Amino acid sequence: MRAVVTGGAGFVGSRVCEVLINSGAEVVCLDNLLTGATANLGGLLGHPAFRFEHCDVADGFGSRAVAAALRPGVDLVLHLASPASPVDYLEHPIETLDAGSRGTRAALELAERHDARLVLASTSEVYGDPQVHPQTEDYWGNVSSVGPRSVYDESKRFGEALTAGYRRAHGTDTGIVRIFNTYGPRMRERDGRVVPTFVRQALAGEPLTIAGDGSQTRSLCYVDDLVDGLLAFARSGHPGPMNLGNPHELTVRRIAEDVIRATGSRSRTEHVERPVDDPGMRCPDITLARTELGWAPRVAWADGLARTVSWFRSRSRGAA
Ligand code: NAD
Repeated sequence: MRAVVTGGAGFVGSRVCEVLINSGAEVVCLDNLLTGATANLGGLLGHPAFRFEHCDVADGFGSRAVAAALRPGVDLVLHLASPASPVDYLEHPIETLDAGSRGTRAALELAERHDARLVLASTSEVYGDPQVHPQTEDYWGNVSSVGPRSVYDESKRFGEALTAGYRRAHGTDTGIVRIFNTYGPRMRERDGRVVPTFVRQALAGEPLTIAGDGSQTRSLCYVDDLVDGLLAFARSGHPGPMNLGNPHELTVRRIAEDVIRATGSRSRTEHVERPVDDPGMRCPDITLARTELGWAPRVAWADGLARTVSWFRSRSRGAA
């Protein structure tokens, strides 16, 4: 099996590459390193079945080096390339729109050309600030098309529409997964997402900054579980959209308290203003994934958090 992983040098993508290589696949990782890093690829870089090429998916795959890497054939395209955290997509709004539109188009064309399956990594953000709870795949969402977060939300919604369009118009073997908040090792400590932000603050003895009163909820999935689900979905041939995430719902306040406990920090919490369009609730209904894939998350929040804290600790020791 030859897989192309766009965005493969990122937090989720690098874990996807590792699991694929460990399962005996060949992997071509295409990434422009906008928010990822080759450091995430660790031992993979010298592996004979692994190839990394610097590539902006919005520009297509026509460069000589990328074309050469793709020439032996492609069975699966996992399209993950996109800034994903609010800090990143607000800093790179046009690049985010390009990755979801031109980048998704290029990935779909690549899959079509090779008669490969394409899996689009979409997001729970397509539900916006949801009025249906937990979110099921048939809910159409409550999204602003012009607010600051729209560059991400609408780019993913357009990517979904384009993917569904290719399936209808060209019969391309496509699948759409909607990933809910995922956390774990290799998140960047300043990417603005709730877990790395709190862990960094707790380890530094700084106050944990809770947006608003902290009663908004997040449902956090450990990265290994998510990647298992993503690859099961890739194998299934299911068109999606399919939610992947952990339905264990926590308030942001509770996440902060748990991080303080897990780090043994003496940090306190402090309240800051909530960002515009910050969703009030997030919880996946994963009935479809359970039924179709037999998949459900296995790593409990306390265990995943402990592994994540220990990774951040080892990194800060390495940097010292
Ligand atoms: P990340 O920022 O760590 O990884 C994204 C990767 O894509 C990075 O390596 C980045 O350099 C690369 N990239 C960005 N634009 C690119 C471009 N134009 N061309 C080539 N590479 C490009 O983020 P992540 O958390 O690993 O997210 C991976 C995917 O999963 C994204 O598509 C994201 O929208 C989706 N997702 C993630 C989560 C989550 O909680 N982590 C939730 C929902 C959806």
